[in-house]
Amino acid sequence: MILYTAKNGVYYNLEDFRQDLSDLGENGFTNKIYINMTNRCSCACTFCLRSLKEFNEHNSLWLREEPTVEEVKAEFMKYDWSHVAEIIFCGFGEPTMRLDDMLEVGAWLKSVHPDIPIRVNTNGLADLVFEKPTAPCLKGIVDTVSISLNSSDAQKYLDITRNHFGLKSYQAMIDYAKACQKYVPHVVMTVVDIIGEEEVAACQKVCDDNGLTLRVRPYEAN
Ligand code: SF4
Repeated sequence: MILYTAKNGVYYNLEDFRQDLSDLGENGFTNKIYINMTNRCSCACTFCLRSLKEFNEHNSLWLREEPTVEEVKAEFMKYDWSHVAEIIFCGFGEPTMRLDDMLEVGAWLKSVHPDIPIRVNTNGLADLVFEKPTAPCLKGIVDTVSISLNSSDAQKYLDITRNHFGLKSYQAMIDYAKACQKYVPHVVMTVVDIIGEEEVAACQKVCDDNGLTLRVRPYEAN
């Protein structure tokens, strides 16, 4: 599925809602729409839903093929957006792996509905993937960047994310977050609560030292 929403950590195909989305936001559903454009990622996190979750075909985030920009737009055009509070690039893979396509969809969304905030949930490693500063591209398109901090130090981060880039990835992710602050109104670092109080405190210190905001979010395993 390309467009979906969520409740209690479970994902639901937007096709199962009314065409006008008037039931979005009811019965415990969030009135947020998530865009799933790729399975690809530069990490292989130990906790990644890709390896932990099983989906039925209809609600699967696993894409047989990546949708084109036009296909994503066509999905959006099926619905009335007046009930949508936020649009989030997220999904099974890392949305910035398709940076140009993500920005094209984001710019189109902004041009059609400038009132709806756009967020990107990311691992923060786009600069390493594309070997250039990518934060400036987000300006005027993305309202919030949410970056997975995961850990308070580089080795633990690498152990968790098992990314392609080695130990330098941790500092690169922090630098990316700081760069995003220049171009995006809201930049949030996230960790999950199961890492324990001590590690949460250490992550808070990393954020404080770098002028970043930390959000501790509940871990959702199902
Ligand atoms: S960054 Fe996200 S999508 Fe990529 S492996 Fe980690 S949890 Fe999965």
